[in-house]
Amino acid sequence: YSAKGSGGGIASYQPSMDETDARKLSRLAELRRALTENELVMHYQPLVDVGNSKLHGVEALVRWQHPEEGLLGPIEFVPLAESTGLIHDMTRHVLRLAIGQAGEWLRAGEAVPISVNISTRCLLDVTLPDTVEAVLASAGLPASLLTLEITESAIMADPQRSREVLSRLEALGTRIAIDDFGTGYTSMAYLRDLPIHELKIDRTFISRMVGESKDAIIVHTAIDLAHRLGLTTVAEGVEDENTMTALADLDCDLVQGYLVGRPMAAEQLRDWLDLRLNTLGVS
Ligand code: C2E
Ligand code: MG
Ligand code: MG
Ligand code: MG
Repeated sequence: YSAKGSGGGIASYQPSMDETDARKLSRLAELRRALTENELVMHYQPLVDVGNSKLHGVEALVRWQHPEEGLLGPIEFVPLAESTGLIHDMTRHVLRLAIGQAGEWLRAGEAVPISVNISTRCLLDVTLPDTVEAVLASAGLPASLLTLEITESAIMADPQRSREVLSRLEALGTRIAIDDFGTGYTSMAYLRDLPIHELKIDRTFISRMVGESKDAIIVHTAIDLAHRLGLTTVAEGVEDENTMTALADLDCDLVQGYLVGRPMAAEQLRDWLDLRLNTLGVS
C-alpha cells in the first residue's frame, strides 16, 4: 500500500492515501446512488442436468448498468461494497431483484430454482435469515426454490456464527451451496457439521480436468465425496464438449458454463429456453 518503511530510500510514485481514499469514497457514493436509481441488474446463468441438458435452475449474477461506463461486472464493484457496510444494502437489493424475478416466473407457470451469492459479511450477519424470509414472503416464492451460495472462506471466518445463520436459513427451507469449492483454505469438518446441500466445484479444476490428470483426480474425488455425503454436485465453468462428457462419466449432477449458456438478462433467458425447446426437444 505504502512505500514507507520499505527502506532504501527509493523514490517511487505511490498514490497518497488521501487520493486513493477520495476515489474510493466517490465510487462508493456512486454505488449507493446506483442502488436507489435501480442501476443494478441481475443476469441469470442456466444450470442444467448433466445427462439430458434439461434446465435445472439459474444462478443470479449482479451487474451495474453504469450511466457512463456501460455494463460493469461484479469484480468492479462487489469488493468495494464488501469493504464497507454497503454490502448489506446491496445484498438486500440483489435478493429483492432475484427473488422477485423468480416469483414472476412462478406466477407465469414456471418454478425455476434460483441461486444467489452471499458475501462473507452477510453470512455473518444474524439478521440475514429475517431478510431472506421477508423477501421470499413479499415475492411469494417458496423457500425451497432458493439456494444461497456461500464460500468456504466465509464459513472459516467465523464457524460459530455461520453455523447459527445457516441453521436458521435451513429452518426457513432454503438450500445452501458451497461456491468455488476446493479453492478455500478450509477444514473438511464443515461438510460434516453444517446444513449444506450442494457443492459447486470451482472452474479452475473443471477447466483443466481434460488433460491435467491432477485436476481430473480432484474433480473425481470431490464428486465422490459430495455424493457419499448426500450432496448435489455442480461443475462451474464448463466450456467444451469434452469436459461435459468427462463430467457425465464421473456422474456429476449439474453443469454451468459458457458451453450451455452465458449469464443473460431475464428476457434473453426466455429466448434461450425457446431456442432449446425447438432444437433439443427438452422441456
Ligand atoms: P461465482 O459465484 O463463482 O460465479 C461464477 C462466475 O463464473 C460468473 O462470473 C460467471 O459469469 C462466470 N462463468 C460462468 N461460466 C463460465 C465459463 O464457462 N467460463 C468462464 N470463464 N467463466 C464462467 P461473474 O458474473 O463475473 O461473477 C464473478 C463473481 O462475483 C461471482 O463468482 C461471485 O463470487 C461474485 N458475484 C456475482 N454476483 C454477485 C452478487 O449478486 N452478490 C455477491 N455478493 N457476489 C456476486
Ligand atoms: Mg456463485
Ligand atoms: Mg462459483
Ligand atoms: Mg468460481
